[in-house]
Amino acid sequence: MRKKFVAGNWKMNKTAEEARLLLNELIPALEPFSHVERAVCPPFPYLMMVRHMLEGTNIGMGAQNMHWEASGAFTGEVSPKMVAEFCQYVILGHSERRTYFGETDETVNRKVKSALSTGLTPIVCVGETLAENEAGKTAEVVWRQITEGLKDLLPEEGLKLVIAYEPVWAIGTGRAATAEVAQSVHANVVRPALAHLFGQEVAGQIRIQYGGSVTAKNAPELFAMPDIDGALVGGASLKAGEFAAIVQAA
Ligand code: 13P
Repeated sequence: MRKKFVAGNWKMNKTAEEARLLLNELIPALEPFSHVERAVCPPFPYLMMVRHMLEGTNIGMGAQNMHWEASGAFTGEVSPKMVAEFCQYVILGHSERRTYFGETDETVNRKVKSALSTGLTPIVCVGETLAENEAGKTAEVVWRQITEGLKDLLPEEGLKLVIAYEPVWAIGTGRAATAEVAQSVHANVVRPALAHLFGQEVAGQIRIQYGGSVTAKNAPELFAMPDIDGALVGGASLKAGEFAAIVQAA
């Protein structure tokens, strides 16, 4: 059985003080739901503070990005080791990174390999744009992002990954994919692409999160689907009560 996994991607939001206040509310609110794997993904400058605040809880933490190189002259970048000092997870290939910061399947592939060799669990984001969706290219795009982004990995590495299917048209729009549409992409595209790379048995064990306008209201329907193994939550993860309600629904 795949344990459900709900992660909150805070993106570029909150002051340090606001982050502290959110966690003061969120930690006790999440405490009862240990049957769900849960994590917060704050901005880099808050990782150390949040690590301290999460001490003694079983709530995990992820970074929102990292560089693939181990160290060196890469001004403004953060290495896998730096992330791993504080985090278990790292979000890679988010559509906002692909759209605004030039990330490609190839850079995602480098980052995934580097994260795995550093002991991090990558949350690898895939998903089609509105134009691709309307052109009927969802399967083609998602298949390519997975097979290229996860190229040359061994099945035992595949086992350590999490995939987040985040259709770009659903991110921050209030227009989530219906549970049926998300389930269909997870079951008919994402899992078969993982099976193509790693074999059926490994593919059956990899968690596939859905992301894109997940709320406390639509979470129960989404989580009722057999191939929706959790969520990567943006806006709704910035409110303690709402995020806890999403975790509770998982
Ligand atoms: P929203 O939940 O705000 O739509 O964002 C989803 C997302 O991009 C999570 O990574």
